[in-house]
Amino acid sequence: MSRILVVEDELELANLIRRDLQHVGHQVTLAHDGPSAVRAAVADDPELIVLDVMLPGFDGLEVTRRIRQTRSTPILMLTARSTELDKVVGLELGADDYLTKPFSMRELQARIGAILRRSDAIRRQSRPAETEDLIRAAGLTIDVLAHEVRSDGVPVALTATEFSLLRLLAGNPGRVFSREFLLEEVWGGEVAVFDRTIDSHIQRLRKKLGGPGSAGDLIETVWGVGYRFSSRTSP
Ligand code: CA
Repeated sequence: MSRILVVEDELELANLIRRDLQHVGHQVTLAHDGPSAVRAAVADDPELIVLDVMLPGFDGLEVTRRIRQTRSTPILMLTARSTELDKVVGLELGADDYLTKPFSMRELQARIGAILRRSDAIRRQSRPAETEDLIRAAGLTIDVLAHEVRSDGVPVALTATEFSLLRLLAGNPGRVFSREFLLEEVWGGEVAVFDRTIDSHIQRLRKKLGGPGSAGDLIETVWGVGYRFSSRTSP
């Protein structure tokens, strides 16, 4: 069904995950340390990456940082219960979701299924009849079909989730979206995603769009409700 890269240095767990994912029809490749994970993410171009945080070489956070320089492949991060901070940092760096160890294979399957459906839905939403192909606002250009975003002409590398968020907001300038609505629309409402997750995705999106004084400012916080794309800047 999907090509999945599993990065985990505990061989027993890596093999268990591989067997389980192969069982439901996925193609699985394994990597066991930071450097080989980055190489495999580029060379194999997987549709999803399951990434452990604690790895030899360099850790999963550094792997995420390096992959995100060129790729928007969905990343499901595996974190230890004792390292709350990794989750937050992981999401800030561009991971799409995380799962805390120990987890059941069933839970892993459910998360993977949800992420794959989400990135599928983003591709489906890109049909030209459903929406504008090109959204322009201030210095921002969103090419929906090509999945490309430019801020003042400079390409911005976004994750699938960030792209979906931006497209929804920028495609409806002036409309206020509640966090609940965004959860449902962007995350499919299937995974346990918290308000904090949405907020950190928005923060990262703003930063990628150029931070204060630039296109990032177009995403406005509506206190106590959610977010809105500025209507000051119609195309
Ligand atoms: Ca590990």
